Amino acid sequence: MERPNHFDLPPLMRALEYNEARNFSIVEKRLPIIREQDILIKVKACGICGTDLHIHDGEFGAQFPLVPGHETVGVVAAFGSGVVDFNVGDRVVADNSELCGHCHYCRRGKELFCENFIAHGVMVDGGFAEYATYPANRVFKFKNLSDVDATLLEPAACAAHGLDKIAPQMGSSVLLFGAGPTGLILAQLLRQNGGCHTVIAAPAGLKIELAKSLNAADEFIELPRDAHTVAARMEELRTKHPYGFDIVVEATGNAKILENSINLVTKGGKLVVYGVYGDDNRVSIPPNKIFKEEINVIGSFSQTYKFPAAIDYLGQYLPVNKTDPPLTNNEPADENRINISGIVNKTYKLEQWQACLDALENKSVIKAALVFD
Ligand SMILES: [Zn+2]
Ligand SMILES: [Zn+2]
Repeated sequence: MERPNHFDLPPLMRALEYNEARNFSIVEKRLPIIREQDILIKVKACGICGTDLHIHDGEFGAQFPLVPGHETVGVVAAFGSGVVDFNVGDRVVADNSELCGHCHYCRRGKELFCENFIAHGVMVDGGFAEYATYPANRVFKFKNLSDVDATLLEPAACAAHGLDKIAPQMGSSVLLFGAGPTGLILAQLLRQNGGCHTVIAAPAGLKIELAKSLNAADEFIELPRDAHTVAARMEELRTKHPYGFDIVVEATGNAKILENSINLVTKGGKLVVYGVYGDDNRVSIPPNKIFKEEINVIGSFSQTYKFPAAIDYLGQYLPVNKTDPPLTNNEPADENRINISGIVNKTYKLEQWQACLDALENKSVIKAALVFD
């Protein structure tokens, strides 16, 4: 039986397009070109994160004109002639990075640093549109997860990479600053992979309340919002945990907190730099502390090859070429996995983009997603 390689496709699609920084509109445009190895995804949901605010302002390497969106979830609508492992209708999530495979770093297996890396939704069009294309080797099938929750797979893949970098030992004590979406996932990953006592410290508000409802840690500390009292609160933490923690993760992006964090790392422990900081931020850390106490300072940024793991932590991963017929229902996740319910707490339609931006600016949402019919 012949395998259909596309749905009936419309000639035009609606997309949120930026002509330049801060100048966006909803446009009708032609569907993206499908190259031989590409999959055309009919987008069902696309997550929105802090990066999209930077892109709005023209930062983060954004190349205009651009359809942003780097957390794309949908169904396979069509595929190129070279694609063998997918069916029209398969539920999929896309890894937004295209790696070259032949640069200095790719040749050494360090693809995260690919010098010719292309980011969908940043440099080329992404998922804030009814349709988007991705190379088939960056597209993953999943089930047992709703479309909206599946927008967390990209941040979860980054958290899974963080877990690889941290490589926690069994019985580690963990302190994590920040309770954003990735932090909440990373805290749970650490807890399930060697963490025996996990503490989340974050400013009072929606996010730490969510952290509690997700049961993402054993202990929760509310941090004040101003820098001076933060230092005092960290002193209290140090008094309560005099030997510090085996693993301290700074996931707020606040350089002052990072500077203080090292005082909470136990001798021989790990300090994980996991926030997005201002380019001009500086921290002052006593080198003798790193030297004498053998503290490992670890950076973790983005991810490669972690989508299968992320899918299995949040839902269920399906190997390619093993699904027949395609899975088209939008089922919620089983219990007993990384708990993500309520992290995406608001959804918007394309034409509500300005309202969405406003909500992100004033931090009235934890994580938002654009949704499509
Ligand atoms: Zn993002
Ligand atoms: Zn490369």
